[in-house]
Amino acid sequence: MKAFETTAHYFHRAADQIELSDNIRRLLLTPKREVQVQVAIERDNGEIATYIGYRVQHDDSRGPMKGGLRYHPDVDIDEVRSLAALMTWKTAVVDLPYGGAKGGVNVDPRSLSAREMEMVTRKFIDGIHDLIGPDIDIPAPDMGTNDKVMAWVMNQYNKYHGFSPAVVTGKPVEMHGLPGREEATGRGVGIMAYKLLGRLHRKPQQTRVALQGFGNVGSHAAKILHEMECKVVAVSDLSGGYYCAEGLNIPHVLRYALEHRGQLAGYREAEHISNEELLALDVDLLIPAALGGVITAANAEKVRAPVIIEAANAPIDHEADDMLHHAGVVVLPDILANAGGVTASYFEWVQNRQHYRWSLDRVRQELEHVLTAAFEKVWELAAQRKVSLRMAAYMLGIGRVGRATVLGGII
Ligand code: GLU
Repeated sequence: MKAFETTAHYFHRAADQIELSDNIRRLLLTPKREVQVQVAIERDNGEIATYIGYRVQHDDSRGPMKGGLRYHPDVDIDEVRSLAALMTWKTAVVDLPYGGAKGGVNVDPRSLSAREMEMVTRKFIDGIHDLIGPDIDIPAPDMGTNDKVMAWVMNQYNKYHGFSPAVVTGKPVEMHGLPGREEATGRGVGIMAYKLLGRLHRKPQQTRVALQGFGNVGSHAAKILHEMECKVVAVSDLSGGYYCAEGLNIPHVLRYALEHRGQLAGYREAEHISNEELLALDVDLLIPAALGGVITAANAEKVRAPVIIEAANAPIDHEADDMLHHAGVVVLPDILANAGGVTASYFEWVQNRQHYRWSLDRVRQELEHVLTAAFEKVWELAAQRKVSLRMAAYMLGIGRVGRATVLGGII
């Protein structure tokens, strides 16, 4: 299933609930601008490699557009378009003064040396530097990119436009970055898990968790959930899943990953299972924190967890979402569950614009404050309107974007 189809499907369902007119729907669903640029580099072996870079600027009615840059071989215009729309609803759900955008390059970052990665980034920014800016569109890390890539984004942009740290977020702390930005998406997932479990009258100590994905989001989420005393029984990455019925020793797993360039391959203190098996584990909470589209009509029936938190973007397609909903599974949707990253990005942008440094304590406190307010609002709306948490989050997000669009005037 195409990624955009799923997000458009959720959009229309929520739009029905808030009785949005067809004309406003069409306006909100149509991206403001989509660009595609050539990203050609000379590889270390002297060969020329050509990739395609995308930036989709979906909506700016609530403020400058905001969203990550993804480096992955599957990146295409449909995926970027769908992720850009998700950013618009996400920033609106947590009430940040932003619109939504997303970008990416169809390259496998694991196939690149550090120099090649830098070249890809600089060439991509050469192609889009006129279209981004601290008041226009602010990139950030996403799958396959990190703080170092963001430092190159800033440096390349600055060559054209002068010193502008607020043009990109997720930068290294030593280079105008924010302490706590890197952990923020995972920490946000932990905050959401805590709130959701409380509402469902479940105790963290009695919650067995399976976590798919051990990148930036998954590894930090595992750490926070472990600190919350949840029992994390399985984690996974591309090399498969690692399972221990009594609960994994998360500090040990984290140390292992740190010593093996972030990879879990070869971890022997747990049973090795497949990623498919992880999704079907008999656990209390399932957290997909890797790629999109991992739970579909083909495997949704196998999911046994009564609660799912979408740490990844769009891990459940809309057919699977319907099946899970009918089976009584509670799903905390991506646009709320993983909003910690963009919320900390907002703090970084504010810090850069004020030329003032925030402390880690302050970042964590404000993150908790913003995410808790958004969670409570979505929970309340879901109860009031008797809809799923996903529908409530979309209704809240779309409603806010729709109102800003109308207030700003269309002509
Ligand atoms: N890529 C992250 C997301 O999907 C963060 C975006 C940002 O910080 O702007 O939410």
